[in-house]
Amino acid sequence: MNDASTLPTRNPRTGEVDYQMPIFTAEAVAAVAKRLRAAQPAWSAQSVAHRLDLLGQFAQAIAAESEPLVEALTADTGRRIESVLEVQGMQNTIRRWLSDAPGLLVDEAPRRANTPNVIIEQHKRPYPLAGIISPWNFPLILSLIDAIPALAVGCAVMIKPSEATPRFVPVLRRAIERVPGLSDVLAFVTGAGPTGEALIRNSDVVCFTGSVRTGRRVGQLAAEVFVPVHLELGGKDPAIVCADADIAHAARALAWGSMVNAGQTCMSIERCYVDRSIFEPFVAALSAEVAALRHSFPDIASGQIGPIIAEVQIPVVKRHLEEAYAKGARAITGGKVLGLGGGAWCEPTVLVDVNHDMAIIREETFAAILPVMPFDNEEEAVRLANATDFGLSACVFSRDIERAKRIAARLEAGAISINDAALTSMVHDAAKQSFKYSGLGGSRMGTPSLQRFYRQQAFLINDGSASPWWFASATAPATNRKS
Ligand code: NAD
Repeated sequence: MNDASTLPTRNPRTGEVDYQMPIFTAEAVAAVAKRLRAAQPAWSAQSVAHRLDLLGQFAQAIAAESEPLVEALTADTGRRIESVLEVQGMQNTIRRWLSDAPGLLVDEAPRRANTPNVIIEQHKRPYPLAGIISPWNFPLILSLIDAIPALAVGCAVMIKPSEATPRFVPVLRRAIERVPGLSDVLAFVTGAGPTGEALIRNSDVVCFTGSVRTGRRVGQLAAEVFVPVHLELGGKDPAIVCADADIAHAARALAWGSMVNAGQTCMSIERCYVDRSIFEPFVAALSAEVAALRHSFPDIASGQIGPIIAEVQIPVVKRHLEEAYAKGARAITGGKVLGLGGGAWCEPTVLVDVNHDMAIIREETFAAILPVMPFDNEEEAVRLANATDFGLSACVFSRDIERAKRIAARLEAGAISINDAALTSMVHDAAKQSFKYSGLGGSRMGTPSLQRFYRQQAFLINDGSASPWWFASATAPATNRKS
């Protein structure tokens, strides 16, 4: 089947089209939105405990479907270990909200206003329908990471996953169906950009994860529809390795932080600045770590590095490498994109002799490549790290924690890992916002995450006494009248 109602989907390991994804038209998206909106008032009228109980059941349903979910995610992404971790991680994310949300969603006790005869009651009113658009690099987690807090608050949720990785959707729908009533308020619509635009037109709040280019368009549309939008976009995260860093420790952390998921994570370390006095031993240590990594090919259960998932990314990675070599860059290990079994596989790569004229230092590469540059002093390190349009996260390595924190405070990024790399992929309970083009809106992480999904409504209640602001009453006793 391949007609206007489906989109062909490429398998990243074989390069072949082996799946047809149904396309939701604008009318179909509107119909789903209408159904979800109709069910949302009852969902929001339930107690928080009831909603969380159902979300707990959803975690169990994901566990019950974990094998087929891992299979589908593996077919979507061409990698297995990360798919297993993704399914486990999703259950942990739900459980974290089960313990955090109750305390955060209780109504505050009424309090007296500064105006003495007024009592304030604060209420949280969920947006009826939260629309979520997600990318291909972690298809399951990035579809649900905003959906869970939105559902906990009382919103209905409509999700449009990436067209590059849609195979997990039918399996996840089965898990949703296992939980009584959950499918009334949680639905997936599949398709490409036009389906995403229809979702925005039907949403009351939008959470988008993806590229800066699409994020800008999503922001414009949300402004047209006049709904709030939270954008989690790309990055070009820098690492700063100071002269007093533990070289072996930094090399291991950065090999992981730049190569995990074959570099296809938003908070992947994509630039490394190293004090010139330790440049040679650091590059040797890093290259040894990176050279030991293997492609998960032909055996998917072996190695650490999967294929490039999205076809559109393959020419980007090749262009960045070719341009860097043309301008004088050298690969210490790796250095090429290989064709293996029909898929495209980036060799785990460490580059030197790089500079800020190169796309590989300026633009998001999204591959298993770490370019390394020396710096001469702290000032230069900070300047180079901040010389970017992005501001997602960063990391600093130094045995002197105060020094590392001093540098971290000068970095224009939302989360700074100290003596570790890319920690935001694991630590979801620290609030952070993106700087520069890496995003816009509230924090996805930490407890403020919930605030994105409700409006605060205040009841301002007169306690029965006359207000000092009122006009003098014509009928009140003369003693009460100002004259
Ligand atoms: P993308 O921007 O190409 O697509 C993201 C989603 O937007 C997809 O579902 C796509 O179908 C949809 N879309 C495309 N056009 C649209 C439109 N006009 N209106 C509405 N939706 C539209 O991004 P991608 O290539 O799928 O993902 C990779 C990017 O995501 C990288 O830049 C990466 O850094 C970023 N990312 C960011 C985070 C984060 O938390 N900051 C996490 C993961 C990935």
